[in-house]
Amino acid sequence: MTLFPDMVRGVLGESIIGRAERAGIIEIGYHNIRDYTLDRHRKTDDTPFGGGVGMVMTCQPIYDCFMQVKKAIPEGNRTRVIYMSPKGRIFSHAVAKELSEYDNLVFLCGHYEGVDQRIIDEIVDEEISIGDYVVTGGEIPACIVIDAVSRLVDGVLASAECYEGESVASGILEYPQYTKPREFMGREVPEVLLSGDHAKIDRWRLEEAVKITRERRPDLLAQHPEFEEQLKPKQKRRKCKKLDTGAV
Ligand code: SAH
Repeated sequence: MTLFPDMVRGVLGESIIGRAERAGIIEIGYHNIRDYTLDRHRKTDDTPFGGGVGMVMTCQPIYDCFMQVKKAIPEGNRTRVIYMSPKGRIFSHAVAKELSEYDNLVFLCGHYEGVDQRIIDEIVDEEISIGDYVVTGGEIPACIVIDAVSRLVDGVLASAECYEGESVASGILEYPQYTKPREFMGREVPEVLLSGDHAKIDRWRLEEAVKITRERRPDLLAQHPEFEEQLKPKQKRRKCKKLDTGAV
């Protein structure tokens, strides 16, 4: 639900998400809030009570738009209504995974100074933020969430392998990727990737992933000690010799 459906349509109609929609794997509806206004001048916003700068989106067109959207959702579907907002829960892979479990997601995109609080209280299940900064509207944030959630839906990517190993999704950051040609501006592809030795390649990739995560996101590594653990040489269990030290 947005005042600028073309902004969203343009972004989500292209590439992998657009293809997934054309293939019928996901379905995206674009609802223009302005189509529902009962105002004579098709207004969808007004000045804030209590004064202050900017305009606030009014309840009525959003509510009527939502009622229409709701009608199209089959009964019994698991549905979540999300308001994109800098005051929301910070978006992450974990949140994307959680949202991918729903049958339907409804996104409310604010604009200007945002929306009347009462529409949030009335229809919204959760507010989600794409980070600690403010953008001009909820459309780009909604596209980010829709893209990230859609690629977790079965069939959107070629296989689950496509995202399971990826940065953050795996728990840590991804190793560097290389493709043809073997040399670019005198920079060679790391030898090991040409070796055909898959055990060696896996080991190298794990080492690189741990290295870059240690440099850039030590917080992730602390949450996932198993990656560094795997790199440690397996210690042979020494039989504990009883040392007669006299200690008790
Ligand atoms: N006055 C509001 C900001 C309004 S920005 C405040 O201070 O909280 C206009 C709209 O852009 C918001 O209604 C919201 O839908 C969207 N938006 C801005 N920043 C966002 C962010 N970090 N995450 C998600 N949506 C955001």
